[in-house]
Amino acid sequence: NCIHPTPDEPGYARAEMLYIDPATCIDCGACTDVDVCPVDAIVPDFALTPATARYAELNAHYFDDSARTRYRRERVARRRPNNSGSSVGPLRVAIVGSGPSACYAADELTTTPGLDVEVHIFDRLPTPWGLVRYGVAPDHQRTKSATRTFERMADRPGVFFHLGVEIGTHLTHDELRTHHHAVIYAVGAPADKRLGIPGEDLPGSVSATDLVGWYNGHPDHADHVFDLSAERAVILGNGNVALDIARILTRDVEELARTDIADHALSALAGSGIRDVVVVGRRDPAHAAYTTPELLGLAGLSTEVELTVDCPSAMDVNHPPNEFDQTSHSPTTLKAQIVDE
Ligand SMILES: Cc1cc2nc3c(=O)[nH]c(=O)nc-3n(C[C@H](O)[C@H](O)[C@H](O)COP(=O)(O)OP(=O)(O)OC[C@H]3O[C@@H](n4cnc5c(N)ncnc54)[C@H](O)[C@@H]3O)c2cc1C
Ligand code: SF4
Repeated sequence: NCIHPTPDEPGYARAEMLYIDPATCIDCGACTDVDVCPVDAIVPDFALTPATARYAELNAHYFDDSARTRYRRERVARRRPNNSGSSVGPLRVAIVGSGPSACYAADELTTTPGLDVEVHIFDRLPTPWGLVRYGVAPDHQRTKSATRTFERMADRPGVFFHLGVEIGTHLTHDELRTHHHAVIYAVGAPADKRLGIPGEDLPGSVSATDLVGWYNGHPDHADHVFDLSAERAVILGNGNVALDIARILTRDVEELARTDIADHALSALAGSGIRDVVVVGRRDPAHAAYTTPELLGLAGLSTEVELTVDCPSAMDVNHPPNEFDQTSHSPTTLKAQIVDE
């Protein structure tokens, strides 16, 4: 019980980060196991780099709140893959999609004690893992390494992948139902949310789905051609995807070359004329939808990129802080501090 907030503690549902309690951590190293954190987000303080040193301070800050210093110590038994057989034959489950939702569903099914199960995972794309492969930014390899957990699930007996099979085109729902006891749809949210504003379809106005799919080599988007000759790009919205795109458009191409960015995107970005990226957000910097780690990541590029914030105050008067916002460790307070710096 060393990592907080736990699911039964206040703030868990809104938590952007989890924190390690120095008073209960015994340095057992279990949290560096891929099952606990598949993206290696848990790093001992002595291994922090100048770029990540700030996290030690943020972690300590969280436990400054005296209400957070007394926690129960409780060891939770970890579940193991289910190997027990059943005399009535396996439950056959089809999962449509092979992104994180599908993989965690398959993991849950194949580790449920006493359940004899066969899982068939279908994806329309020729490669698995959904938007972890085609959405998460290429310079976020640690996030993409979540696929290591999925690979371990895929290696289990009773798990079968059927790639390049689109349900609705190659197979119908009824056909799936004929051969499986249950069908789980984990197909993600592939369509854009249109704004319905004049000019949305003019040349030069593109959706994040198209651009992100293009630089990640998504088969549906790899053929797009974007005009990157202008000096200034404007991104509407200030969530994590906006910051991903701002980073990719401004990042040193030599650094991007060390990622798995699509070759066509790398050569287009090498010739890009874009020097300014303006991120336009409805909410003030402290209440924006991006998370603190994404903001720190952008601020961490400050040797290559000049980051300026044009807002009267990081904490806009139009969004007065609520009770939760006022705690020293709330995401809102942290974002406001970082933007103020
Ligand atoms: C640009 C971007 C950046 C992101 N960055 C991060 C990040 O840094 N960190 C983070 O935690 N999250 C990030 N996310 C969010 C994360 O990628 C998603 O939350 C996650 O991938 C959703 O998982 P999912 O399984 O629900 O859907 P998806 O990952 O979208 O998977 C759905 C799968 O279903 C398949 N499918 C759809 N229809 C059919 C059909 N009819 N038949 C067969 N297969 C079908 C699709 O091909 C796809 O493989 C990002 C998302 C985007 C868009
Ligand atoms: S090292 Fe062990 S005790 Fe410390 S946070 Fe990780 S799992 Fe908990």
